[in-house]
Amino acid sequence: MRLILLGPPGAGKGTQAHRLVERHHIVQLSTGDMLRAAVAAETEVGLKAKDIMASGGLVPDEIVIGIISDRIELPDAANGFILDGFPRTVPQAEALDSLLKSKGLKLDAAVELRVNESALLNRVEARVAQMTARGETVRIDDTPEVLSKRLASYRTSTEPLVHYYSEKRKLVTIDGMMSIEEVTLEINRVLAAIMAAEKPVKKVAGKSAKKTSAKKVTAVKPESAAVKTAKLAKKPAKKAKKTAVKAPKKAVKKSAKKPAKVAKKATKPVSKGKTAKTGKKPAKKTARVVKKAAKSTAKATKKPAKR
Ligand code: AMP
Repeated sequence: MRLILLGPPGAGKGTQAHRLVERHHIVQLSTGDMLRAAVAAETEVGLKAKDIMASGGLVPDEIVIGIISDRIELPDAANGFILDGFPRTVPQAEALDSLLKSKGLKLDAAVELRVNESALLNRVEARVAQMTARGETVRIDDTPEVLSKRLASYRTSTEPLVHYYSEKRKLVTIDGMMSIEEVTLEINRVLAAIMAAEKPVKKVAGKSAKKTSAKKVTAVKPESAAVKTAKLAKKPAKKAKKTAVKAPKKAVKKSAKKPAKVAKKATKPVSKGKTAKTGKKPAKKTARVVKKAAKSTAKATKKPAKR
């Protein structure tokens, strides 16, 4: 599974990414984490990124694209990955598209965590307080001033990606204001629907299989498309059940008068492919079976009375 997590700073991308990693056995590729590691290790990239990151600006595209391109080549990313913090701009998204294409890989979904911006400041403050309490190093860009700049940068540079992935029918929007657990459940539900809707396409026979193409499944609201697909897949089963129940009834009712013809009628739906096979000579036999059944039902209903 290959995913993108979209959302402003403080939306909970990191937390949800960790959970997705465990659930799907994929790797989380966070450009922010990788850049911070580069800064800490004082690599060439780190030295270039350090001041930009501290001020809440965006590191040049060629640096982050280079990092991602190298990283998804590594064996641990073969089972899939979740991109957190990348792409952050439309040019980065376009670069990712061509990168994936050149590697023969496909993106499954872009999951947007939509949050109320006014709540973000409180969230980030709470995160800083918790980290300080645990004795962890607080990120130098986790200050109200830098956060405002990062939010502004999200709005102008990253938010257009919502439209970008919606156009590509890859966007899944989740209400990020719910509790962490609820957000996780919702993400899991939607992703499961997408994956399930993609799989049975090959199994479902006839028309419904054509209707449930993978493209439709990842429509603007993949979850609803997936549900639609599930309904479509169920329809033929329902019809088959109905017809299978009705056919013998008809045969029984009419068989007393014109058994031969009715038997033919009763088996008609079979030829349309709507039912499972009903008996070849149902009319007479069914009448006998019904008689027998009636007798045994009568006996059965009498028994408890005796007791
Ligand atoms: P994050 O941890 O995702 O909030 O990223 C922290 C900082 O790293 C950002 O404020 C940027 O300075 C830089 N950064 C992370 N990802 C990118 C990216 N895709 N493009 C440009 N800069 C990035």
